Amino acid sequence: MTKVVHKFGGSSLSSAARYQAVANIILGQCQRGDCVVVSAAGKTTNTLVKLWQSYLQKDDNAFNDILLQVENHQNQLLTELFTSQQANTLLEKLKDELQSIAKAAADLNLHEASLLAHGEVWSARLLAHLLSTLNVSALDVDARSLFTQHQGQLLHAQNKQACIEQLSGEKIHIVTGFIASDCDGNTITLGRNGSDYSATLLANYIDAQAVSIWTDTHGVFSTDPRKVSSAIKYPKVCRAQANLLARLGNPVLHAKTLSPLKDTNIKLQVRSSYDPEAVGTEIVKQGYSKDKRFITTFEELDLIRVEGLATGEVRTLSQLIQHSIHHFSKGGEDYLLVPSNDTHAVASHLQGRGNIVESHLRGLAIVAPSHETHQLTQQVAAVLEQQDVVVRFTHSDGRYALFLTDQSIDSDVLAILHDKVVNKGRELAVIIAGLGNVGEVFVDQCQKQVEKLQANFDLKIVALVRSKEMLFCPSGINIQNWQQQWRSEAQSYQQSDLLERIGELDYEHKVVIDITASDAFSDMYPSFVAHDCHLISANKYAGTAAQAWYGKLLEQLQERNLHWRYNTSVGAGLPINFALADLQNSGDAVTRIEGVFSGTLSWLCSSFDGTKPFSDLVLEAQGMGYTEPDPREDLSGRDMQRKLLILARDLGLELDVEDIALEPLMPEHLATGDWDSFLAKRQDLDTFYQSRYEQSQSEGKALRYTGALDIDEQGQVSAKVGIAYVEAGSAIANLTPGDNIFVITSQWYESNPLVIQGPGAGKEVTAAGIHSDLYWLTQKLK
Ligand code: ASP
Ligand code: MG
Repeated sequence: MTKVVHKFGGSSLSSAARYQAVANIILGQCQRGDCVVVSAAGKTTNTLVKLWQSYLQKDDNAFNDILLQVENHQNQLLTELFTSQQANTLLEKLKDELQSIAKAAADLNLHEASLLAHGEVWSARLLAHLLSTLNVSALDVDARSLFTQHQGQLLHAQNKQACIEQLSGEKIHIVTGFIASDCDGNTITLGRNGSDYSATLLANYIDAQAVSIWTDTHGVFSTDPRKVSSAIKYPKVCRAQANLLARLGNPVLHAKTLSPLKDTNIKLQVRSSYDPEAVGTEIVKQGYSKDKRFITTFEELDLIRVEGLATGEVRTLSQLIQHSIHHFSKGGEDYLLVPSNDTHAVASHLQGRGNIVESHLRGLAIVAPSHETHQLTQQVAAVLEQQDVVVRFTHSDGRYALFLTDQSIDSDVLAILHDKVVNKGRELAVIIAGLGNVGEVFVDQCQKQVEKLQANFDLKIVALVRSKEMLFCPSGINIQNWQQQWRSEAQSYQQSDLLERIGELDYEHKVVIDITASDAFSDMYPSFVAHDCHLISANKYAGTAAQAWYGKLLEQLQERNLHWRYNTSVGAGLPINFALADLQNSGDAVTRIEGVFSGTLSWLCSSFDGTKPFSDLVLEAQGMGYTEPDPREDLSGRDMQRKLLILARDLGLELDVEDIALEPLMPEHLATGDWDSFLAKRQDLDTFYQSRYEQSQSEGKALRYTGALDIDEQGQVSAKVGIAYVEAGSAIANLTPGDNIFVITSQWYESNPLVIQGPGAGKEVTAAGIHSDLYWLTQKLK
C-alpha cells in the first residue's frame, strides 16, 4: 500500500482553531495507513527551552511561572477542543506529567531532551484524540520507540524495522516529530525544527510515496513574501537548490530535511495548512526543474574562521547548538556562519581554534543557476552600493553568493534587489481556452503580439483548449503552425487532466485566458487560482456568479497576489473597466452609470423609425448574425443585466443579478415556447414596441433599451435594465446603431458626464481587448 506522510509544524497547531483545521485536512487528504508527524503546538518548544534555562539558573520563581504558562496553554487547547468528559483523561495525564517535571526539577534530576519532548508528545496525543472524536481511527505514537540513534548515527535498519512493525495497519498514526532515543532509551532530539527531518526519515523507513510539509506559507518563494509582495512562489524547486537554501538558513525547509530522500523517488511538497486547496511547491529531483533565483536574508550571525576543521565537526557543532551552520572555504581557510547567540558555545568547543572574524552580521545570499551567478553577484554588489549598504565580507561558490554587512537589509532594499536580480527574465505561461470566433482571431493576433511581449517576457503559449480536446505543450506551441500541431497532437481531456498539466508547469507565472462561453469552464476558476494562475476572461459567467462564490474567488486571488482581468466581458474592447478603475483609484466617486451595453439591442432601437414593424428588424438582425441564434435571448435583456452586474461589482458593490430589475423588450408571453410559436405571434411584439415608440415620440424623446445604476448620497444602490425614453439629442439618443455607450456620472463628471462609446461586439475588437488585458498583466508583473 502506498503511504503518504503529512507533517504539521508548530504554526499549523498554534490554537484550537488550527487543530480543527489540521483535523479537516487529515479528513480530506489522508488515507488509512498514512502517517502524520507533528511538532509541538505553536511556540511550546521555545517555552520549554526557557523552562530549562530557568532550571539551569536555579531561578525557582521563573521556573514556576513558566511551568504554569505551559499548563495554561495545554489546558486551554484541551478545553476549547473537547467537552469536559472528552478532555478528562488528557487533563489527568497532563497534570501527572507536569507534576513529575516539577518533582524532577526539585530533585535536580531534569533532563533537557526529555523535557523538550513533552511538546511533541502533547500535540500528537491531542491530535489523535481529536481525530477519534471525529470518528477517524487514529493512534499517537512516540517516535522514541521508532528512531534510535547511537553515537550520533541513526540506526537505519533497526529503525526501519520498528516503523514497519508499529505503523502498519489501517489506523492513521500520529507520530511525534523532533524526538528520538539513544540505545539506552534516553531521549534525544533531532535539532530545533527537526520535525521535517522526522517526517522525511519516516517516509524513507516506511517507503512512502510522498511527504507533505504543511506550513504557514504557500510554498518556497524567491524571497520572503512577508517583506516583498512580488516574491514569486515557485511551483518546483530542485533538491540541490532547496538543500543549499536550507543550509543558508532559509526558514521553509530545514537543513537535514532532504537527506533521507536522497536516492529515493519520494515526492516532497510544501503546502499551506491555512489554504489546503492551494498547490504548494514541489521539491523535485535534480534535472526535473530549472534552477531558480532566490534571495535569502540573515540576521545576527558571527563569522568564525576555524583552524584545522575536522570532517564531521560542523555536524557535531550544529548538533551542539541545535541549529544549522553554514560552512564554506575561502582562500584555503574554513569559515562558519554561526548565530551570534551560539558563538560562545561554538568557540569554547573549538578550544582556541576558532577566530571570530566579524560579529553581529546581517546580510543576504543570492542563489541562482550557476551560469548566472557571476553576473547577478555583480548586480547585487552594485545595488547594495547604491543603497549605501557597506559589505564587509563576500563569498561566492558558483551556485550562490554571500554578502555580509553590519547594516540591516530592510524590506525596501530587499524589494529593489529582488526586482533587479530575481524578478527578471519573467516567465509567463499562457493557457488559451475557447477557439471559437473570438478565440481564433485572438490566436491569430498572438503571432505579432507575442513577439512584442517577448521583448520583456519569456512568454509561451503552452496550451490551447477546446471543450473536448486540448493541445498542451509546456515548452511552448509554435503559434504560426498551431493548426497543424493541433491536428497531430491534440488530445481529449477531462478537467482533472487539464489541472494536472497546469500543476506540472514550471513557470514563474501562469495565466488562463477564458474565451469560452462555458459555465463549466468558469466553475474551474477557483482551481486555476489554487494552481497559481492569473485569469483573463471574456466569459461573463464568473463575473456574474453568485456574490458568495464571486467574493471568495476575489479573496483567493488577493491572498495569492494573482490578477483577474475581464475587460472584454462588458463592451468588448471598450475600456470601460479601465475607466471605472481609474476614476476610483484617483479618488473620484461614481454616482451613476447608464448606457446601452448590447450591440443587438442598440442596433434594433437605433434603427427603428416606424417604417417597418419591429419584428422585421429583429429577423433582419438575426439574418445578419447580429443576434443570438434565438433573438429572444437578446430581447430578454438578461445579457445587459449581467453586464450591469459586472460594472456594479467593479465599483465595489456587492450585488447579485436578482438585485437588478429587469424589464424585457418583449411581452412576457412571447418569452417562452419554441421559435415557430414566436413567429406566429410576432405581431404582439410589434404592437408592444409600437405603442412604446409612439409614447416616446409624443414626449419628444427617443426609445432606447438601457441599463442604469444609481448610487445615492446614502450609498443606496438602485439598478435596472429596461426600456427608457431618453432626451432627444442626448448621447444615448444619438447612438450609432450597433454601438455600445457608457455614460458615467461622478463627483468630477457631474453636470457633464464621461462618455465611452464605440463598437461593443465583434471578434476583432474583442480579441484586441483580450490582448489589452494580457498586456496589462505583463506590465503588472514587471
Ligand atoms: N518543536 C521543535 C522546535 O520547535 C521541532 C519542530 O518544530 O520542528 O524546534
Ligand atoms: Mg517548528
